[in-house]
Parts: sequence; structure tokens; C-alpha cells
Amino acid sequence: LYTIDSDGVPHFKTFLAGTWASSKDFENVKSPIDLEVYARVPRLNYEMIDSVIANIHYKGRWEIRDIPGEKRLKLYDRIANLLDKYREDFIQVLVVGNGKTVSSARGEVNASIERLLRADLDVRKLYGEYVPGDWSSESLESEAIIRREPLGIVLAITPFNYPLFDVVNKFVYSTVAGNAFVLKPAISTPIPAIMFAKLAEIAGFPKNALAVITLPGKEMDKVIQDKRLSVISITGSTETGEHIMKVGGIKQYIMELGGGDSVIVMRDADIASTAQKIVTGITSYSGQRCDSIKFIFAESEIYEKLKSALIEELKKIKVGDPRDPNVNMGPIIDSKTVDEFEFSLKDVVEKGGVILYGGKRLGPTYIEPTLVEADKSKVKDLYLYKKEVFLSIAVLVKVNDISEAISLSNERRYGLDAAIFGSDINEIRRAIRFLEVGAVYINDFPRHGIGYFPFGGRKDSGIGREGIGYTIEDVTTYKTIVYNYR
Ligand code: NAD
Repeated sequence: LYTIDSDGVPHFKTFLAGTWASSKDFENVKSPIDLEVYARVPRLNYEMIDSVIANIHYKGRWEIRDIPGEKRLKLYDRIANLLDKYREDFIQVLVVGNGKTVSSARGEVNASIERLLRADLDVRKLYGEYVPGDWSSESLESEAIIRREPLGIVLAITPFNYPLFDVVNKFVYSTVAGNAFVLKPAISTPIPAIMFAKLAEIAGFPKNALAVITLPGKEMDKVIQDKRLSVISITGSTETGEHIMKVGGIKQYIMELGGGDSVIVMRDADIASTAQKIVTGITSYSGQRCDSIKFIFAESEIYEKLKSALIEELKKIKVGDPRDPNVNMGPIIDSKTVDEFEFSLKDVVEKGGVILYGGKRLGPTYIEPTLVEADKSKVKDLYLYKKEVFLSIAVLVKVNDISEAISLSNERRYGLDAAIFGSDINEIRRAIRFLEVGAVYINDFPRHGIGYFPFGGRKDSGIGREGIGYTIEDVTTYKTIVYNYR
């Protein structure tokens, strides 16, 4: 899996359709905790990837679909057992490599194990249909079986923030449907993907049907254009999704893109529990979640009370080294994102907004969790409204009624999720109907979890849904087989 370089840093190989490969060029992988290099990985070029795709195209994609479904399901059980066995190693990598707290790293490993074990629920959507010819004069005395077939090879492109779960989720729905799997993990957090490939190999996953290609996203154009890859499933920013669609041409796309969610707080909400849940939704994994809360639209009657309660809850958040068990908010993945935080705060203040809590940079990759206040007439001008800033910062806005909150939420280019806190069920139902998002959470902060309930965005937040038993439709296609008895 790796050798140790002269400076003591583990230098990983990567799994390329049966071969553990290294390359002349490598990438230094840094921990956001202290920006120290903790691993190195190969930096591949298209020539290397081209021959890997050829191998998968000619061999791997047939090997995977030749495994009977019942046997294929057992592979996921075996991988889940291995993940359980090596869970501490994965937790350590998620803490050092991503800056996650131990409990959130443990949560990601548990979610990944559960996702593997729920592959059996995906297969219910893999059946086809029977269509009798009786209803049309041209098809009398014939009938058709409409079969679902895998599309071939799925290219999965995963983000830095869930470097194990996103890999596992895309792996399960792609391969249980019979597709081969080429994985491009985020270059800043590639180690869990490489370790996962090792588990898949040990579990007996067909070796020619899996590759982990490590290279920076900006060098992916030729891979994206490759006609042998029939599906691209990307989780990442909207800008990356837009680029991939432009470059990739005719393919099947699954796109889980940028978000940052809105919350509506109605005048009859329970303020104490609402504030506590909203602050968890703002600060969990330092706000580096697509479903993290970025806007709070609160009705004027409870506005001041909610504001104080939010500030009190934010005071309880302790920022620092995530290896310290008392810390509940670790670092931000890189210092560039923290520069963007400072820029967006300046922009808030310039446009008349107020910093209610936090606002300070605490080091190259650390920030205070931050709440700002903006007037409803100015909020649409904010940088934070126009572009997702991927860390722990939220904007509080006073509104006169729910319809104002809905239109401020809907006019953002993103449409991932929303949450509503309140008691009047009729008013909640009306709001649900008008919100242009993929999911609405009632009296809770948005959380996608393992996708037992499907999630995914509208508008610039993406195309398609990820969810157990849902995405399977996007990685398969129909084949019509007509039986003629005339
Ligand atoms: P990112 O867009 O920078 O990178 C995501 C992946 O795309 C990485 O593997 C990256 O290397 C690759 N990539 C980047 N540029 C590329 C290019 N030109 N061609 C091909 N691949 C390219 O995103 P990130 O910073 O890793 O992750 C954070 C983003 O992901 C946020 O916008 C967040 O909202 C989004 N996200 C969305 C969901 C969802 O379910 N909708 C879930 C998690 C994260």
C-alpha cells in the first residue's frame, strides 16, 4: 500500500485495475490541522489513465456484470466487515487528513459500513418490465421485456469533505448495478479512497473493474472527455459541475453540487431547541457540508429572542485541534477558503451588515464560527448569497412573513435543502409546497446521512438524486427485447 520516504512520510501507491502503481510525479498531502505533509500519493497523467481505462473497458466491465447478483451482494458484506476491522485506521486518517473530530470521523465510518450493508435495498430497482403488445395494432402477437442494464463504466469524482462515505456510496450504487468503477478522489484527501480500494481487493472485488486515479481536478479534461466512460457522478462545487458538463459531452450525469441551506424560523417555533439545532447545522464539520446552514430567515415576532439564543449556543462551540476531545469545531481544509471567509465578511460589513458573533481568523486554517446579520433589502447583494463559502458562517435576516422568507430562499441560485422550524402545520405545508429545493427538513437541521431518504439539488445544486434505491436508475439503462409470435 505504501513505502516510507526518507523524511518518514508514507508514500502511497494507488490501485489501477489490478496493479498497485506508483508514478514519477507525486502529490504532497497536507493535514489541515497544522499544514504538515502526512502522506504522498502518485500524480497520474492521462497516458497512464488511458491504458487503465482500456483494461477496464475490455475486461473489467464484463467481469463485474458476470458476477451473479446474489454473489455480488456478498462482496459488500465482506467489505463492510473489513471496514469494521480497520475502523480505527480510517478514523485516524479522517481526523488527520480532514481535520474531523473523532466523533464525526467515527460517524463517517459507521455511515459507510451501513451504506455497504444496505446494497440489498438498491437491487429492488434493478428489475425491468414486461409490456404486452395487445394495445397497438402494429405489435399484436408480440411482447417485450424491458431489461435494466448497467451503462458500463462510472467515473466517480468525489469531494474532500466526505472522503470515505462519498466513495462508498458511489461505489455501491454503481457496482451493484453491474458497472465498473473509476474513482477520482479529491487530491487534498485521497488516502481513504486508496485504503478503501485495498479492502475491496481483499474482499475479492473483480480487480479489473476498479481504479483509483489520483491527479488534480484541473488535469481531468481528457478523462472527462473519454467516450469509454458512460456516466460521470460528481459531488463537488457548482463551478466544477458546470465545467465537467461543458467538457464531457454526451454522457449520463449525476451531479451533487454546491448548496448551503436556508432555514425559516416561524413565529411559533420553540426557540431554545431551534437555536441549538441551527447552531449544530452551522458548525458541524466546521460548516464544510453541502447541507450546512448558511441563511436563517426569521419572522420579526421572535427575531430578537432567536438572535440571543443563537449567540448563546455559538458561545458553547470550542474551536481547536480536533484530536482534543473537548473541541467540537476543527480546522478548515485550506487557508485559501479562510481567505474567502475574510473577504466575504468584509463584503458583509461594506454592505451594512453586522457581525453578531465570531468573525476572526484564528490561524492559517482556523476560524471562529460566525453569525452575521443583514437587512432583507441588502441580502441579495452579498457575496455569501451569490456564492457558497464553504465554512462555518451564516447570515441572519429578519422577515415580515413566511412568503418573504420563501422568496429570499428561492432567489438564490442554489436549491439543495431547506429547513422550517415552527408549529402551525398548515403554514408549514404551504411553505414546503413553494420551496425550490431537493429536501425540506421540519424542525431539524438538514442532514443527508447515508441517503436512506434520497437527497440532491435543484437549480445550480445539481442533477439527479443520491439515495438508496434511487441513484440506481441513473447508472443503468433500458434494453427492449421484442418477442414476435406472428
Ligand atoms: P471541488 O469542486 O473543488 O472538487 C470536487 C471534486 O472535483 C474533486 O475531486 C476535484 O479534484 C474535482 N475537480 C475539481 N475541478 C475539476 C475539473 N475541472 N474537472 C474534473 N474534476 C474536477 O469541491 P470540494 O471543495 O472538494 O467540495 C466542496 C463542494 O462540494 C461544495 O461546493 C459542496 O457543497 C459540494 N458538495 C455537495 C454535496 C451534495 O450532496 N450536493 C455533498 C458534498 C459536497
